[in-house]
Amino acid sequence: MDKLNQVLLHPKNRVGADLDAWLSYVGGDGLQVALQDPSALVGLIKEAHLPGLGGSGFPVHIKWAAVAEQKKAVDKYLICNGNEDEPGTFKDRMLLEETPHQIIEGATIAALATGINQIVFYINPDLDGCIEAMCVAVAQWQASELVEKVAAALKKPLTYRVMPSSGHYIGGEETAAIESVEGKFPFPRGKPPYPAQYGVHGCPTLVNNMETMANVTHLVRNGVQWFKDQGIGKASGTKIFCLSGDVLRPGAYELPMGTPLEDLIYKYGGGVLLGKKLKAVFTGGPSNTILTPKDLDVPLDFDSVRERRSSLGTGAMIVISEGTGIVKRVSEYVDFFAHSSCGQCPSCKTGTYYISQLLGKIDTGRGRQADLDSLENLCEILPGSGRCHLLDGAVKVLESSLYHFKDEYEQALRR
Ligand code: SF4
Repeated sequence: MDKLNQVLLHPKNRVGADLDAWLSYVGGDGLQVALQDPSALVGLIKEAHLPGLGGSGFPVHIKWAAVAEQKKAVDKYLICNGNEDEPGTFKDRMLLEETPHQIIEGATIAALATGINQIVFYINPDLDGCIEAMCVAVAQWQASELVEKVAAALKKPLTYRVMPSSGHYIGGEETAAIESVEGKFPFPRGKPPYPAQYGVHGCPTLVNNMETMANVTHLVRNGVQWFKDQGIGKASGTKIFCLSGDVLRPGAYELPMGTPLEDLIYKYGGGVLLGKKLKAVFTGGPSNTILTPKDLDVPLDFDSVRERRSSLGTGAMIVISEGTGIVKRVSEYVDFFAHSSCGQCPSCKTGTYYISQLLGKIDTGRGRQADLDSLENLCEILPGSGRCHLLDGAVKVLESSLYHFKDEYEQALRR
């Protein structure tokens, strides 16, 4: 097996909340580079093609530039998003618990680049070990000279806060996170206005995922070319892939962005359990179009997976072997989305519930042809009618299962 390309999960980064250990390795180097010319940072992130690693792959520099442009704002917020609640995703918890300082340093660099003075580490409350590690790490960071230097460059005090999220899946959506930081229920907001113009308490707000922040530290320290060289082909940097399901060696693998799906499953994951054939892969959440064995050659980067009409999402890959029923799996995932809907869009509240009921009927042998027809109709009318991605995600996984595995639905009807 090839050596893992570990930048974020390198053993020397795994110092927990010990700031001295972090500083004696590479800690503080990226921040020193950033302090030399904060105005160059947005351009550097742009040149490196750093994508948002929370699921969207949206270019990080666009969000940073939009917040940096808000020059008149007294307060600006950064929400480091660690709400991580999707099935099959468990990368942020490793970063938070084992390597909190690289996240804090990346967030501090982002603050320098954009003029942010309020940093909130927003963490799923189930990850109590992560919250504890971040609280200890932040306290050490605040007592260090580094923060004084940054505050001097910003010409205003820089504050850090560790905050448990509400624990709802939907609280990870960026505008829902803003509501949550304001102390409200995490209902996603309509856009525009975008967070960069009107975020926490009306202030310009940047929302970036924890893995993105950790990458910033190493990118700024080592430079654009180094970062590009970490990826394969046109892709830059590394990605933490969360491999789970029917696979021999499940786990979190940090690999070059652009690593083929086949390598992740067979070379690193040891192949499908019991030597069975691969049937499907639920990607990135699982709120995306299902990949099948013909997609094994796809490079795992945002653009390449998008070309297969799916999405890399959070980097979660849930492997399904032959013999595993797809209808039951999809039914379980849609149940999750139905329970997670915040209920403010009627199409999502009733649509996900109705899909979940129909799938439950079909899966348990009580379905009729009319139920299957209704599912297909819902796939046509529901997309785009919700305020956030939750509804579209639930429909995508259903629609692609109907496309690839309709025979299993028909078998379930005959049962
Ligand atoms: Fe809430 Fe669903 Fe609307 Fe998203 S699409 S805002 S989860 S009701």
